[in-house]
Amino acid sequence: MRRTKIKSLLDSGELNSEVLVKGWVRTKRGNKQVNFIALNDGSTINSIQVVANPEELGEDLLKLVTTGSCLSVTGKLVESQGSGQSKEIIAEKVEVLGTADAEKYPLQPKKHSFEFLRDIAHLRPRTNTFGAIFRIRHAMSFAVHQFFNEKGFYYWHTPFITGSDAEGAGEMFRVSTLDPKNPPLNEDGSIDYKQDFFGRETNLTVSGQLEGELGALALGDIYTFGPTFRAENSNTTRHLSEFWMIEPEMAFYDLTDNMDLAEEFLQYLVQYALDNCADDLVFLEKRLLDEEKNKPAAERSEMSLTDKLRFVVENKFERLTYEEAINILRNSKPNKKKKFQFPIEGWGTDLQSEHERYLVEKHFKKPVILTDYPKDIKAFYMRMNDDDRTVAAMDILFPGIGEIVGGSQREERLEVLTARMDEMDVPQEEMDWYLDTRRYGTAPHSGFGLGFERLMIFITGMGNIRDVIPFPRTPGNAAY
Ligand code: ATP
Ligand code: MG
Repeated sequence: MRRTKIKSLLDSGELNSEVLVKGWVRTKRGNKQVNFIALNDGSTINSIQVVANPEELGEDLLKLVTTGSCLSVTGKLVESQGSGQSKEIIAEKVEVLGTADAEKYPLQPKKHSFEFLRDIAHLRPRTNTFGAIFRIRHAMSFAVHQFFNEKGFYYWHTPFITGSDAEGAGEMFRVSTLDPKNPPLNEDGSIDYKQDFFGRETNLTVSGQLEGELGALALGDIYTFGPTFRAENSNTTRHLSEFWMIEPEMAFYDLTDNMDLAEEFLQYLVQYALDNCADDLVFLEKRLLDEEKNKPAAERSEMSLTDKLRFVVENKFERLTYEEAINILRNSKPNKKKKFQFPIEGWGTDLQSEHERYLVEKHFKKPVILTDYPKDIKAFYMRMNDDDRTVAAMDILFPGIGEIVGGSQREERLEVLTARMDEMDVPQEEMDWYLDTRRYGTAPHSGFGLGFERLMIFITGMGNIRDVIPFPRTPGNAAY
């Protein structure tokens, strides 16, 4: 007999048919006459109830059925007698594929803290919460590809190992096969990277954007979706050292086109989750409600998880310039009462997450797109505005997160670009390949980067970015 996944049994399994299921035991309860086993195979958050008779199947066998053990069960699918589930399996044959020592198994059937579960990240996908998160993570990845494919964008693979350090100077992970104890040296004592594997200094990429632009200026519309590495020592709930980023890059888009696409994209992804991940979202919503109950009333969120998701889909994002945002922040209560950790000094200060969240959560109460940032706090490739002091940048700010998207119209004018590179000490010799796109058939173009895990925090309502990626990498932590 072929195995049926539990999801398909619960959705459309034929009553009174013989079925074979395989999965892991979540709980077992009962008595000498009858055992109720909740079996889960990861295909859905819902476990199927297996009803087992110890006299028929053997008491010794059923003793091996403990939380965490793995079973193969053959039996009859019937309408459930009890409440809480629609169907159950009356077991005719139970095989224990793998036992799990009940005393030692770390995932006891009770509530565990997320800190504890992070330490056993190899087992946490077996919990309801993490099962839900990682199924949604899959659905969101699929939705990313579907969105761009429907729009005629090409999936463009940019390198993980890069010889360009234009953007990430100082926060990159070096890639080298040189012997760290005895590296070849130049006469001046510096390391001779000419003798390294690639004949030059190489690092892990901090962004695929510059190489993405090369694709857009040939194929029109491209997107990247891959891992990104940052060696910055930011131990926050929103930063990982290895995270996944989606970076579309579009020829002939100006900043407004860019914002329109980013807004449509985010709304599409959220709607996709609402349409396709209902069971998992209902579970996560309940989890969040329970968590909120333990908070003081003033800190509780007024909206449930799915309310928040619907709110993003149904409301246009608020668009305003950096300058307008600074004025709002300068006159805000927390600034006047010196409640911000970083007070707003005036035009030119970089916004911190606390400011971004004030704008989104307190002032506008919806997602916000800020545009036209001072050139000094943004990257060299962003297009200079006519005022000569701001650039055509846009950041999208989300509730609970702050920045979720960063993007810009790119500087397509060769002279303006090279002047900016000189101003910001970006070496032109090493970027000749990039400048070639401006020398030959340059074109207006734009793009943005969406941090995939920041999106996942929003969709799942989780509070820590370490809990929305299977194996988080953060300073001091690279297990597995
Ligand atoms: P932040 O100010 O939050 O550090 P950033 O300005 O460094 O962000 P960008 O370089 O613009 O971010 O990267 C584009 C997007 O990638 C961000 O909008 C965010 O969603 C995501 N992102 C950036 N750094 C990280 C990180 N360390 N971990 C997870 N996601 C990140
Ligand atoms: Mg950063």
